Amino acid sequence: MGLILGIESTAHTFSFGAVSSDGVSVLPSHSSLYRPEEGGIHPREAADHHVNSSRTLLEKAMDDWGISGGEIDAVAFSQGPGLGPCLRVGGSVARSMSIALDVPLIGVNHCVAHIEIGRRMTGCSDPVLLYVSGGNTQVIARASGRYRVLGETLDIGIGNMLDKFGRAIGIPFPGGPIIEKKASEYVKENGPDRILDLPYAVHGTDMAFSGILGAAISHANRGEDHGLVCHSLQEVSFASCVEVGERAMALTGKSEILLGGGVACNKRIREMTQTMASERGGSAHWPDWRLCIDNGTMIAELGRRMLDSGEATKLENSAIDPSLRTDMTPISWS
Ligand code: AMP
Ligand code: MG
Repeated sequence: MGLILGIESTAHTFSFGAVSSDGVSVLPSHSSLYRPEEGGIHPREAADHHVNSSRTLLEKAMDDWGISGGEIDAVAFSQGPGLGPCLRVGGSVARSMSIALDVPLIGVNHCVAHIEIGRRMTGCSDPVLLYVSGGNTQVIARASGRYRVLGETLDIGIGNMLDKFGRAIGIPFPGGPIIEKKASEYVKENGPDRILDLPYAVHGTDMAFSGILGAAISHANRGEDHGLVCHSLQEVSFASCVEVGERAMALTGKSEILLGGGVACNKRIREMTQTMASERGGSAHWPDWRLCIDNGTMIAELGRRMLDSGEATKLENSAIDPSLRTDMTPISWS
Protein backbone atom coordinates (compact mmCIF):
# COMPACT_ATOMS: atom_id res chain seq x y z
CA MET A 1 0.00 0.00 0.00
CA GLY A 2 1.31 3.41 -0.97
CA LEU A 3 1.42 6.55 1.10
CA ILE A 4 0.37 10.17 0.80
CA LEU A 5 3.24 12.35 2.02
CA GLY A 6 2.35 15.60 3.81
CA ILE A 7 4.68 18.59 4.16
CA GLU A 8 4.01 21.31 6.74
CA SER A 9 5.92 24.60 6.67
CA THR A 10 3.54 27.46 7.49
CA ALA A 11 5.60 28.97 10.34
CA HIS A 12 8.09 27.64 12.91
CA THR A 13 7.57 23.93 12.22
CA PHE A 14 8.96 21.99 9.29
CA SER A 15 7.41 18.55 9.24
CA PHE A 16 6.92 15.46 7.13
CA GLY A 17 4.02 13.13 7.88
CA ALA A 18 2.10 10.47 6.01
CA VAL A 19 -1.10 8.47 5.83
CA SER A 20 -1.67 5.32 3.83
CA SER A 21 -3.47 5.97 0.56
CA ASP A 22 -6.37 3.75 1.65
CA GLY A 23 -6.83 5.95 4.74
CA VAL A 24 -6.28 3.07 7.17
CA SER A 25 -2.89 4.00 8.67
CA VAL A 26 -1.77 7.31 10.11
CA LEU A 27 2.02 7.59 10.37
CA PRO A 28 3.81 9.77 12.92
CA SER A 29 5.29 13.07 11.76
CA HIS A 30 8.97 13.93 11.84
CA SER A 31 9.28 17.60 12.71
CA SER A 32 11.91 20.20 13.38
CA LEU A 33 11.03 23.39 15.27
CA TYR A 34 12.73 26.71 14.55
CA ARG A 35 13.45 28.45 17.86
CA PRO A 36 14.49 32.09 17.56
CA GLU A 37 17.52 32.96 19.70
CA GLU A 38 15.69 36.04 20.89
CA GLY A 39 12.46 37.83 20.10
CA GLY A 40 9.72 36.50 17.87
CA ILE A 41 9.84 34.36 14.75
CA HIS A 42 11.92 35.83 11.91
CA PRO A 43 10.36 34.53 8.66
CA ARG A 44 13.59 34.34 6.64
CA GLU A 45 15.53 32.67 9.44
CA ALA A 46 12.70 30.18 9.90
CA ALA A 47 12.76 29.48 6.14
CA ASP A 48 16.54 28.88 6.31
CA HIS A 49 15.96 26.46 9.16
CA HIS A 50 13.40 24.60 7.03
CA VAL A 51 15.78 24.37 4.07
CA ASN A 52 18.63 23.17 6.26
CA SER A 53 16.59 20.51 8.05
CA SER A 54 14.60 19.21 5.06
CA ARG A 55 16.92 16.52 3.74
CA THR A 56 17.83 14.79 7.01
CA LEU A 57 14.26 15.07 8.24
CA LEU A 58 12.83 13.42 5.13
CA GLU A 59 15.46 10.68 5.18
CA LYS A 60 14.73 9.98 8.86
CA ALA A 61 10.98 9.91 8.25
CA MET A 62 11.19 7.52 5.31
CA ASP A 63 13.59 5.33 7.24
CA ASP A 64 11.23 5.24 10.23
CA TRP A 65 8.18 4.45 8.08
CA GLY A 66 10.22 1.85 6.19
CA ILE A 67 9.34 3.18 2.74
CA SER A 68 11.13 4.14 -0.44
CA GLY A 69 10.25 6.92 -2.88
CA GLY A 70 8.43 4.43 -5.10
CA GLU A 71 5.79 3.94 -2.41
CA ILE A 72 4.78 7.62 -2.32
CA ASP A 73 1.50 7.95 -4.26
CA ALA A 74 1.09 11.74 -3.91
CA VAL A 75 2.70 14.73 -2.21
CA ALA A 76 0.56 17.19 -0.24
CA PHE A 77 1.83 20.50 1.16
CA SER A 78 0.51 23.52 3.09
CA GLN A 79 -0.33 26.10 0.44
CA GLY A 80 -1.39 28.67 3.07
CA PRO A 81 -2.08 30.52 5.26
CA GLY A 82 1.31 31.28 6.78
CA LEU A 83 4.58 33.12 6.41
CA GLY A 84 5.58 33.49 2.75
CA PRO A 85 9.25 32.50 3.02
CA CYS A 86 8.38 29.43 5.11
CA LEU A 87 5.52 28.31 2.86
CA ARG A 88 7.78 28.67 -0.18
CA VAL A 89 10.22 26.07 1.20
CA GLY A 90 7.50 23.44 1.68
CA GLY A 91 6.04 24.29 -1.73
CA SER A 92 9.41 23.87 -3.47
CA VAL A 93 10.17 20.55 -1.76
CA ALA A 94 6.67 19.28 -2.65
CA ARG A 95 6.88 20.40 -6.30
CA SER A 96 10.33 18.84 -6.75
CA MET A 97 9.23 15.54 -5.21
CA SER A 98 6.03 15.42 -7.23
CA ILE A 99 7.98 15.97 -10.45
CA ALA A 100 10.81 13.58 -9.55
CA LEU A 101 8.46 10.79 -8.46
CA ASP A 102 5.86 11.59 -11.14
CA VAL A 103 2.98 11.60 -8.63
CA PRO A 104 0.14 14.11 -8.03
CA LEU A 105 0.75 17.32 -6.10
CA ILE A 106 -1.93 18.55 -3.67
CA GLY A 107 -1.87 22.07 -2.20
CA VAL A 108 -3.90 22.09 1.01
CA ASN A 109 -5.38 24.68 3.34
CA HIS A 110 -3.54 24.40 6.67
CA CYS A 111 -6.56 25.39 8.80
CA VAL A 112 -8.80 22.84 7.09
CA ALA A 113 -6.10 20.20 7.75
CA HIS A 114 -6.42 20.81 11.52
CA ILE A 115 -10.14 20.05 11.23
CA GLU A 116 -9.81 16.96 9.06
CA ILE A 117 -7.15 15.28 11.19
CA GLY A 118 -9.32 15.96 14.26
CA ARG A 119 -12.38 14.40 12.61
CA ARG A 120 -10.34 11.43 11.39
CA MET A 121 -8.77 10.70 14.78
CA THR A 122 -11.65 11.41 17.16
CA GLY A 123 -14.59 10.16 15.11
CA CYS A 124 -16.64 13.34 15.57
CA SER A 125 -18.57 14.11 12.41
CA ASP A 126 -19.80 17.68 12.20
CA PRO A 127 -18.08 19.68 14.92
CA VAL A 128 -17.57 23.32 15.72
CA LEU A 129 -13.77 23.63 15.64
CA LEU A 130 -12.05 25.78 18.23
CA TYR A 131 -8.77 26.38 16.43
CA VAL A 132 -6.32 27.75 18.97
CA SER A 133 -2.79 27.97 17.65
CA GLY A 134 0.20 30.31 17.61
CA GLY A 135 -0.90 32.61 14.80
CA ASN A 136 -4.60 31.73 14.54
CA THR A 137 -7.57 31.73 16.85
CA GLN A 138 -10.80 30.92 15.04
CA VAL A 139 -14.13 29.26 15.60
CA ILE A 140 -15.09 27.35 12.50
CA ALA A 141 -18.07 25.28 11.39
CA ARG A 142 -19.12 23.62 8.18
CA ALA A 143 -22.02 25.20 6.29
CA SER A 144 -22.96 25.16 2.59
CA GLY A 145 -19.86 23.31 1.36
CA ARG A 146 -17.24 25.36 3.19
CA TYR A 147 -15.71 25.59 6.62
CA ARG A 148 -16.94 29.04 7.70
CA VAL A 149 -15.16 31.25 10.19
CA LEU A 150 -17.87 32.22 12.69
CA GLY A 151 -15.57 34.13 14.99
CA GLU A 152 -11.90 34.91 15.42
CA THR A 153 -9.32 36.98 17.23
CA LEU A 154 -9.40 40.64 16.37
CA ASP A 155 -5.71 41.04 17.10
CA ILE A 156 -3.13 38.33 17.90
CA GLY A 157 -3.46 34.53 18.07
CA ILE A 158 -3.85 33.09 21.58
CA GLY A 159 -0.61 31.07 21.26
CA ASN A 160 1.33 34.18 20.23
CA MET A 161 -0.15 35.96 23.24
CA LEU A 162 1.06 33.18 25.55
CA ASP A 163 4.49 33.12 23.89
CA LYS A 164 4.82 36.93 24.20
CA PHE A 165 3.87 36.81 27.86
CA GLY A 166 6.38 33.99 28.33
CA ARG A 167 9.09 36.04 26.70
CA ALA A 168 8.26 39.01 28.98
CA ILE A 169 8.85 36.87 32.09
CA GLY A 170 11.94 35.12 30.72
CA ILE A 171 10.42 31.88 29.38
CA PRO A 172 11.90 30.74 26.04
CA PHE A 173 9.71 30.02 22.99
CA PRO A 174 7.29 28.27 22.98
CA GLY A 175 5.93 29.70 26.22
CA GLY A 176 2.55 27.91 26.31
CA PRO A 177 3.68 24.59 27.84
CA ILE A 178 5.73 26.27 30.61
CA ILE A 179 2.88 28.69 31.40
CA GLU A 180 0.63 25.62 31.78
CA LYS A 181 3.14 24.01 34.15
CA LYS A 182 3.52 27.15 36.28
CA ALA A 183 -0.27 27.59 36.45
CA SER A 184 -0.90 24.00 37.51
CA GLU A 185 1.87 24.13 40.15
CA TYR A 186 0.32 27.32 41.50
CA VAL A 187 -3.16 25.77 41.62
CA LYS A 188 -1.87 22.62 43.33
CA GLU A 189 -0.45 24.72 46.13
CA ASN A 190 -2.99 27.53 46.40
CA GLY A 191 -6.22 26.32 44.80
CA PRO A 192 -7.88 27.81 41.72
CA ASP A 193 -10.05 30.53 43.27
CA ARG A 194 -7.82 33.59 43.19
CA ILE A 195 -7.72 35.18 39.74
CA LEU A 196 -6.08 38.51 38.95
CA ASP A 197 -8.04 41.20 37.19
CA LEU A 198 -7.49 40.87 33.42
CA PRO A 199 -9.64 42.37 30.64
CA TYR A 200 -11.97 39.72 29.21
CA ALA A 201 -12.68 40.50 25.56
CA VAL A 202 -15.49 38.73 23.70
CA HIS A 203 -17.31 40.77 21.07
CA GLY A 204 -20.14 38.72 19.57
CA THR A 205 -18.20 35.73 18.32
CA ASP A 206 -14.84 37.51 18.14
CA MET A 207 -12.10 37.65 20.75
CA ALA A 208 -9.09 39.86 21.49
CA PHE A 209 -5.94 39.09 23.44
CA SER A 210 -3.63 42.11 23.38
CA GLY A 211 -5.38 43.76 26.36
CA ILE A 212 -5.02 40.60 28.44
CA LEU A 213 -1.36 40.36 27.43
CA GLY A 214 -0.56 43.95 28.46
CA ALA A 215 -2.36 43.59 31.79
CA ALA A 216 -0.68 40.25 32.58
CA ILE A 217 2.76 41.75 31.88
CA SER A 218 1.92 44.67 34.22
CA HIS A 219 0.91 42.25 37.00
CA ALA A 220 4.19 40.34 36.55
CA ASN A 221 6.22 43.58 36.51
CA ARG A 222 4.50 44.70 39.72
CA GLY A 223 5.88 41.59 41.42
CA GLU A 224 2.82 39.29 41.42
CA ASP A 225 3.63 35.59 41.73
CA HIS A 226 4.30 34.35 38.18
CA GLY A 227 2.32 31.17 38.87
CA LEU A 228 -0.73 33.24 39.81
CA VAL A 229 -0.36 35.41 36.69
CA CYS A 230 -0.04 32.30 34.49
CA HIS A 231 -3.12 30.75 36.12
CA SER A 232 -5.14 33.98 35.69
CA LEU A 233 -3.98 34.38 32.10
CA GLN A 234 -5.09 30.86 31.23
CA GLU A 235 -8.46 31.14 32.98
CA VAL A 236 -9.42 34.44 31.37
CA SER A 237 -8.13 33.83 27.83
CA PHE A 238 -9.38 30.24 27.64
CA ALA A 239 -12.79 31.29 28.99
CA SER A 240 -13.18 33.71 26.08
CA CYS A 241 -12.39 30.96 23.54
CA VAL A 242 -14.75 28.49 25.19
CA GLU A 243 -17.51 31.10 25.38
CA VAL A 244 -17.19 31.82 21.67
CA GLY A 245 -17.17 28.06 21.00
CA GLU A 246 -20.42 27.78 22.97
CA ARG A 247 -21.99 30.67 21.09
CA ALA A 248 -21.08 28.97 17.81
CA MET A 249 -22.64 25.69 19.00
CA ALA A 250 -25.84 27.52 19.98
CA LEU A 251 -25.92 29.41 16.66
CA THR A 252 -25.39 26.37 14.44
CA GLY A 253 -27.22 23.77 16.55
CA LYS A 254 -24.14 21.50 16.38
CA SER A 255 -23.47 19.28 19.38
CA GLU A 256 -19.77 18.47 18.96
CA ILE A 257 -16.81 20.72 19.64
CA LEU A 258 -13.33 19.83 18.42
CA LEU A 259 -10.09 21.42 19.63
CA GLY A 260 -7.16 21.91 17.27
CA GLY A 261 -3.92 23.92 17.14
CA GLY A 262 -0.98 23.91 19.54
CA VAL A 263 -2.86 25.51 22.46
CA ALA A 264 -5.24 22.52 22.34
CA CYS A 265 -2.38 20.54 23.98
CA ASN A 266 -3.27 22.41 27.18
CA LYS A 267 -5.13 20.30 29.77
CA ARG A 268 -6.98 23.26 31.22
CA ILE A 269 -8.53 24.42 27.92
CA ARG A 270 -9.55 20.81 27.28
CA GLU A 271 -11.17 20.59 30.70
CA MET A 272 -13.04 23.89 30.25
CA THR A 273 -14.25 22.85 26.79
CA GLN A 274 -15.36 19.48 28.13
CA THR A 275 -17.32 21.11 30.97
CA MET A 276 -19.05 23.51 28.57
CA ALA A 277 -19.95 20.75 26.11
CA SER A 278 -21.29 18.40 28.84
CA GLU A 279 -23.43 21.18 30.33
CA ARG A 280 -25.09 21.60 26.90
CA GLY A 281 -25.53 17.84 26.44
CA GLY A 282 -22.86 17.83 23.72
CA SER A 283 -19.39 16.30 23.40
CA ALA A 284 -15.82 17.64 23.29
CA HIS A 285 -13.00 16.09 21.26
CA TRP A 286 -9.30 16.56 20.58
CA PRO A 287 -6.65 14.44 18.87
CA ASP A 288 -3.35 13.37 20.45
CA TRP A 289 -1.12 16.41 21.14
CA ARG A 290 1.25 15.47 18.30
CA LEU A 291 -1.63 16.04 15.90
CA CYS A 292 -2.78 19.27 17.61
CA ILE A 293 0.48 21.12 16.96
CA ASP A 294 1.46 21.84 13.36
CA ASN A 295 2.43 18.53 11.73
CA GLY A 296 2.88 16.90 8.34
CA THR A 297 0.44 14.05 9.06
CA MET A 298 -2.59 16.36 9.04
CA ILE A 299 -1.47 17.77 5.68
CA ALA A 300 -1.23 14.21 4.33
CA GLU A 301 -4.70 13.36 5.65
CA LEU A 302 -6.34 16.38 3.97
CA GLY A 303 -4.31 15.62 0.82
CA ARG A 304 -5.74 12.10 0.82
CA ARG A 305 -9.31 13.37 1.10
CA MET A 306 -8.77 15.91 -1.68
CA LEU A 307 -7.12 13.36 -3.96
CA ASP A 308 -10.00 10.93 -3.40
CA SER A 309 -12.34 13.77 -4.45
CA GLY A 310 -10.30 14.35 -7.62
CA GLU A 311 -8.73 17.59 -6.40
CA ALA A 312 -5.03 17.34 -7.24
CA THR A 313 -3.27 20.68 -7.82
CA LYS A 314 -1.81 21.52 -11.22
CA LEU A 315 1.75 22.83 -11.13
CA GLU A 316 0.60 26.22 -12.48
CA ASN A 317 -1.90 26.51 -9.59
CA SER A 318 0.53 25.46 -6.89
CA ALA A 319 1.82 28.90 -5.84
CA ILE A 320 1.66 29.46 -2.09
CA ASP A 321 -0.96 31.85 -0.67
CA PRO A 322 0.09 33.39 2.67
CA SER A 323 -3.37 34.89 3.21
CA LEU A 324 -5.48 31.87 2.24
CA ARG A 325 -8.66 31.94 4.34
CA THR A 326 -10.33 28.90 5.87
CA ASP A 327 -13.53 29.54 3.89
CA MET A 328 -11.77 29.88 0.51
CA THR A 329 -11.44 26.10 0.16
CA PRO A 330 -14.50 24.27 -1.21
CA ILE A 331 -15.20 21.07 0.74
CA SER A 332 -16.46 18.32 -1.53
CA TRP A 333 -15.92 15.34 0.77
CA SER A 334 -18.25 14.15 3.52
P1 AMP B 1 0.83 25.74 16.40
O1 AMP B 1 0.95 27.16 15.91
O2 AMP B 1 -0.53 25.15 16.18
O3 AMP B 1 1.95 24.83 16.00
O4 AMP B 1 0.98 25.82 17.99
C1 AMP B 1 2.05 26.44 18.62
C2 AMP B 1 1.53 27.25 19.79
O5 AMP B 1 0.92 26.37 20.74
C3 AMP B 1 2.60 28.02 20.51
O6 AMP B 1 2.12 29.35 20.67
C4 AMP B 1 2.69 27.32 21.86
O7 AMP B 1 3.05 28.17 22.94
C5 AMP B 1 1.30 26.77 22.04
N1 AMP B 1 1.25 25.61 22.94
C6 AMP B 1 1.84 24.41 22.79
N2 AMP B 1 1.60 23.62 23.86
C7 AMP B 1 0.84 24.34 24.72
C8 AMP B 1 0.27 24.10 26.02
N3 AMP B 1 0.45 22.96 26.66
N4 AMP B 1 -0.44 25.11 26.57
C9 AMP B 1 -0.63 26.28 25.94
N5 AMP B 1 -0.10 26.57 24.74
C10 AMP B 1 0.62 25.62 24.13
MG1 MG C 1 -1.59 25.43 12.86
